[in-house]
Order: sequence, then C-alpha cells, then structure tokens
Amino acid sequence: SLDFKSPDEMAKFEIKMADDIDTRLDDVKGIEEIKDEIRNLIKMIKDPFKYTEKGAKVHKGVLLFGDPGVGKTLLARAIAGESGVNFIFCTGSTFDEMFVGVGAKRVRQLFQTAREKSPCIIFIDEIDSLLSKSRRFAKEHSSNRSTLNQILAEMDGFNESENIIVIGATNHEGDLDPAAVRPGRFDKKIHVPKPDLDGRKDILKLYLEKVNITDDIEVEKLGKMTPGFSGADLENLVNTAIADAVHKDKTHADMKDFEEAKDRIIMGIERKNLHIGNRIRLNTAIREAGRALTCYYTEGSQKLYKATIVNRGASTGATFTLPDESDMIALSKEKLLAHIDICLGGMAAEEIIFKEFSPDNMNAISTEGGKHLARATNLAKSGVREYGMFGEEGSSFISSSKDDTSDEFTQMVDLKVKEILDESHERVHNLLKTKTKEIELLAKNLFWYDYLTEEEIKKILKGEKLDKYHIREW
Ligand code: ADP
Repeated sequence: SLDFKSPDEMAKFEIKMADDIDTRLDDVKGIEEIKDEIRNLIKMIKDPFKYTEKGAKVHKGVLLFGDPGVGKTLLARAIAGESGVNFIFCTGSTFDEMFVGVGAKRVRQLFQTAREKSPCIIFIDEIDSLLSKSRRFAKEHSSNRSTLNQILAEMDGFNESENIIVIGATNHEGDLDPAAVRPGRFDKKIHVPKPDLDGRKDILKLYLEKVNITDDIEVEKLGKMTPGFSGADLENLVNTAIADAVHKDKTHADMKDFEEAKDRIIMGIERKNLHIGNRIRLNTAIREAGRALTCYYTEGSQKLYKATIVNRGASTGATFTLPDESDMIALSKEKLLAHIDICLGGMAAEEIIFKEFSPDNMNAISTEGGKHLARATNLAKSGVREYGMFGEEGSSFISSSKDDTSDEFTQMVDLKVKEILDESHERVHNLLKTKTKEIELLAKNLFWYDYLTEEEIKKILKGEKLDKYHIREW
C-alpha cells in the first residue's frame, strides 16, 4: 500500500539545545560594521527584563538580509550560541503547501514548539517566500496569505515573558509585505554585508588554517583577487583548491591551485548571475508583451510605437509613453481607462503565464508589476479627483470639491479608485487569458531582439517572420 503521510506529519524543525550550540560571534568574520548592533541584540535576548522593566520594548522579529552565502545563518546560530538560548531552524519552504491551512497549521506547531523550548530563537531561512508582497497578487495563494497571517498573529500574541525571538533571513529586502515589517513584528532589519578586503582576509585565514598550503600563499593576494566573494564563496575557494591539490597527489595546495579554483568559482557565479539576468529579462518580456497586447486590443489606447525590454534607467521596459498629468485634461474617459488597462496588462500577463507554466512559483511575479499598479492607481486617482471622471452625476460632483481633504471624500475616492482598478484588472485578465499564445510569441521575440517596433509587433501577431538576426537564445 502507499505510504501516505499526511502533510502535517512531515513538518520538521531542526531543534538545537543551547548547550549544543558552539558557534560564537567570533566565528563570523568580516562583519565588523554590524558587530555592535549584533552585540546589543544579544544583550537584549540574554536579559530582556533589563529592558522591559525600564519600559523599553524588546524585538520580537529581526530580519537579516544580504546576498546568499554572506553568513546570515551562521550569524543567527552565533546569536543563539552567545545568548545561551535554544535554536529552532526552519526554512520558508517548510510552510509552502498547496493545501489550504497546512502552512498555517505548521506555523502554529512551530510556535508551540518554541514556547516549550523557550527561551529560544526561531530562525526562518528564506523568509521572503512567506513575507513577500508579490504573494498578494496571487489570489490563488490564499494559503500562503494565511501562513503569513498566522506568523503575524503568533508574533502579535507573544508576551514579553515568553522570551521568543524570530530571526528571518532573506536575500531580497525590498519585496516584503508592509504588514510584516510594522513595529512589533519584523521591525529590526540588519544588513549583512559582503566582506571587504579585510573581511575577506579574515575569512580566508579562518579556512586556510584548516588545510595544507604551501608557504608562498599570501592571504593579502588571495583577498585582492576575490572581490565580490561571499564568505561561502571563500570557504568554497579554499576547499576547491585543496581538493584539486589532493586530486593531483600533492600534499599542499599552491597558488596555482587557488588561481584555478578562483576561475572556476567565478565562472559559477557568473553563470548564476546570467541565469538571474535571464530570469529578469523573461519577466520583463512577458510583462511588456502583456502591455503591448493590451494596447493593441484596447479601444482608445494611445498608438503603440515600440516595446522594449532594454533596461533604461530605473525601470525596465516601456511599451508606450504615458501622458503626464498636464495632458490628462485632454484625455477622454475611454482613453484614461485604456491607459489604466495597459498599466495592469503587464502584471496580468505575468499572472496568467506563471500560473499556467509554473503554478507553484507565483513568486516569480516581479515587483516591477507593482510599480505599474502604482501608476494605474495614480491615473485612476487623478481621473476621479481632478477631473471628476466616473462620478455618478457626470463630471460635476467631484471636480467641484477637488480640494476637499475630508476623510469622507478621501474614502469615496479610494473606493471609486479600487472599483476602477478591479474592473480594469478583470477586463485585462479576461482579454489576455485568451491570448496566451500571443503573449508567449511576443515575449519570445522581445527576449530575442530586445525591442520591437509597431510594424514588427503587427507582423508577429500575423504570424509572419521578422527578418532580423536573433541576438540571443531563448
Ligand atoms: P547565508 O545564510 O547568508 O546564505 P550561510 O550562513 O549559510 O550564508 O553561509 C554558508 C557557510 O559559508 C557558513 O556555514 C560558513 O561556513 C561560510 N561563511 C559564510 N559567511 C561567513 C563569514 N562571514 N565568516 C565565516 N564563514 C562564513
């Protein structure tokens, strides 16, 4: 028979009792600039009452953010080791469950365990998969929303005598749900930096001590040839060099082994970055395809002239120019709605494509889509506030009170704006849902060519081939 375990039974947290943790702050090298901050945090965890009895609030949640491999996990262990508290380790994906409510249930188990082991630190690696705000656009993923809500509810419910602190690690700081970083939740953020030259030398020394190296190895030189390396990369460098030396039946790793190891590691890092680069290009291409198609199929939209995924300044992609505020007066309701639709077209395309091809990876939806949402919101707001558009009694009811800042008025505007955005979102979704083939086709071409003119877009949609050279592989 099938050995079917209910998902509940599979929740596993790694629990380390305080006495078994021998990691100390000194084991984490190259983070001098944040050590004082960490020491203060440790003081607080060790003796919270010293703070609370004087009216100071102790942190319930701390976010460590920084590139992969800089030592966030190591640091969290060191904090537990120094504070003499127990340590519970888990990763965000532990809670990623397609069954509604399972994630939330695991969160309850986790905090229950933490209460039993208090005082303790709960460490959640890759916490962005739980706290990320892109989740909010993925309505299907209400189970994740309930996971997040459960974490926040547990944290809100801590009382100070419970002595539990949640430390989350993430690579992306920007993408977190505002509700998660409010005071009393993850309100302390610490950036764990990549090591500078001195830091790299300290880390290298730590790992070089453990292996056989020839006398000509200079830490200074190794440090200088590894800018951008994380602690994990440096550890990897030492391990690779010594392993290569042993493969060659040498007793000690020499400079050549280190040079070669460095080149291999850099190649690996570049490939990773390239991969990420392609991933961003892909997201941008899908989004721009969505906007271009919305533009193409929407009555009243401004003429489409060019779609591009080449990075121009802060934002990637520009299907067309939006009117600035001074042009707004000349816009009809139809045109304004078309603009709003186009703004939301990018996000909708991402939602549709990623749901179809990668349903458990809705995180792939980019934050760039959020910027377009903000733009759409502003357009709708100006429409309602400034020009009285969409007012029940034609254009008079709101425009006469456009300087009105009363709560009632603001609330009315917000409601109206939300209604406009919801309708637009639905309209665009319904449109693009029927155009997944075209989104894919346009996105591929954008990915290949970087930009497409209006003529080219029309050709592609007619199924004709473009006579230009591909610049890259799909
Ligand atoms: P992160 O959690 O930031 O991805 P980790 O803490 O998992 O990074 O780092 C992986 C390993 O790399 C650590 O266990 C340690 O062996 C090494 N390492 C990373 N950063 C440092 C550092 N600053 N000092 C010493 N070792 C480090």
